[in-house]
Amino acid sequence: MKPLDELTRPNIRTLAPYSSARNEYSGRQARVFLDANESPYNNPYNRYPDPLQQELKEVIGKVKGVAPSQIFLGNGSDEAIDLLYRCFAEPRVDNVVAIEPTYGMYKVCAGINDVAYRPVLLDADFQLSAEALLSACDERTKLVWLCSPNNPTGNNLDAAEMEKVLRLFQGIVVIDEAYAEFSAQRSFRYRLDEFPNLVVLSTFSKAWASAGVRLGMAFASEAIISIFNKVKYPYNVNQLTQEYALHHLSDMTQTENWTSVLLEQRPKLMEAVERLPFCQKVFPTDANFFLVRVDDAQSVYEYLVGEGIIVRNRSRVALCQNCLRITVGTPEENEELIKALEEWGDGGKYAAHTTSGS
Ligand SMILES: *Cc1c(COP(=O)(O)O)cnc(C)c1O
Repeated sequence: MKPLDELTRPNIRTLAPYSSARNEYSGRQARVFLDANESPYNNPYNRYPDPLQQELKEVIGKVKGVAPSQIFLGNGSDEAIDLLYRCFAEPRVDNVVAIEPTYGMYKVCAGINDVAYRPVLLDADFQLSAEALLSACDERTKLVWLCSPNNPTGNNLDAAEMEKVLRLFQGIVVIDEAYAEFSAQRSFRYRLDEFPNLVVLSTFSKAWASAGVRLGMAFASEAIISIFNKVKYPYNVNQLTQEYALHHLSDMTQTENWTSVLLEQRPKLMEAVERLPFCQKVFPTDANFFLVRVDDAQSVYEYLVGEGIIVRNRSRVALCQNCLRITVGTPEENEELIKALEEWGDGGKYAAHTTSGS
């Protein structure tokens, strides 16, 4: 890895961050707070929240097995994705390299930040080749984007190939583990001390059933987290979200049970989809969704919309022609989906569709 100073954008390296009232005095023993121009009347949210979310990071650190100083919390993982560009990638000068296909936000944020985005196709099994990825990198490549389990393909990337990228790439390697709770692969967040250039992303949005509160996590070296803290909005995670998260983390049995149910449902749903006459291939998955190639994805998609069931048509994504991405739902929801698809496949509507050639 290049020295972190060299990877950081010059304006960020020399930035004097905003110092908020709650930064300057954060002790709890004081009784009278007249330093932040807040209302003294408890609404009950009259006070600014802890800018560094220290209590919450203590708890998340225990759950995730990471030191609080190695945690960044943001308004969804999306905030961490954007921050990585703002901290490390100089607009119109630097570039980033990413696997393709993958999560769309890496590319959108590259566009917003005016940074060149270099996609590198996965192989036919949606696997990563470290060599192919690294050969797309040059002196100006600051970030490499990996996602495991990957979205929309669902599969884990090969751990040995990811490790090779971590060892050989001179910039920052991001591994987005938004779906890791559904996978048996060991998280890379346990290896932060081994790889100073590693950033692991995680989220409350998927297995933790809290997409609506917008809380994302990044795990990285203390040095990288310090740069994030300098650049982020001072109060980027609001008090309601911090309280919700603390409450949520105080008992994880329910979310763990839900994950077990989804993992039980996953193969059943995939097998039922595989039996459909218009199914070409169900791709293996390590996430709470899977990709399926059908004869005509757009027709299946439109038919399901008519039935009030929404899946994601990924046909326009590289390597995903005629593929639908299906999220595993409750047992009842999955049954409803299968019933609808079987009705279509059983002659009636599917046969009419194939003979009419529309
Ligand atoms: C859903 C998802 C996220 C979650 O983003 P949030 O902003 O935390 O909701 C992150 N990465 C990937 C690959 C995802 O599919």
